[in-house]
Amino acid sequence: LFAGPVEFVKGVVAMPGLPPADRVEVCFAGRSNVGKSSLINALTNRKTLARASNTPGRTQEINYFALGEERYLVDLPGYGFAEAPVAIVRKWQELLKAYLSGRQTLRRAFVLIDSRHGVKAVDDEIMTMLDKSAVTFQVVMTKLDKINKETREKNIEQVKQALQKHPAAYPEIILTSSEKGEGLETLRAVIATLA
Ligand code: GDP
Repeated sequence: LFAGPVEFVKGVVAMPGLPPADRVEVCFAGRSNVGKSSLINALTNRKTLARASNTPGRTQEINYFALGEERYLVDLPGYGFAEAPVAIVRKWQELLKAYLSGRQTLRRAFVLIDSRHGVKAVDDEIMTMLDKSAVTFQVVMTKLDKINKETREKNIEQVKQALQKHPAAYPEIILTSSEKGEGLETLRAVIATLA
């Protein structure tokens, strides 16, 4: 799945722009700066596939990438800019809600959590949105190379606690570092298994 070409398909700003729902897809969500672009790039062995262009106030798109001919990898707009205008935040939320509840072929959402910070209120809101949309989600903790073992254990525990009140949460957490390559094979294997 990840050995073949990974191609950018399109950026979508509204539901009618989604590509035909003709294959299984997974999506990636996370606060801006969580390391989402880095993870997607590392996962797909590309240096510049997902742009790290999360400029506050800019219209953000749902970016579609094709993994071979069988899967879509969907990069959702980063959330949680303190300085983002309310109107833009609303627009993102509406598009996100429409996407999550309306996309038949969406098999799993990966919610990225910075291993230094754990689950924040905005992450919890997205998780609640996923619960309501009945989209199974799995937490991927990022930047594991940045913390020591003690903080690691403590923050993993915090995430596990936070997941307990979310019925759509998949219990297994994936630990990653795009920098060190940690957890990438695990994540690739999970994506390959979803049918
Ligand atoms: P995005 O806004 O979620 O797309 O985040 P980026 O992928 O642009 O990453 C935000 C910052 O964190 C950048 O400076 C990255 O170099 C850094 N970063 C991302 N992943 C890792 C990682 O696994 N380890 C380390 N040490 N830094 C990372």
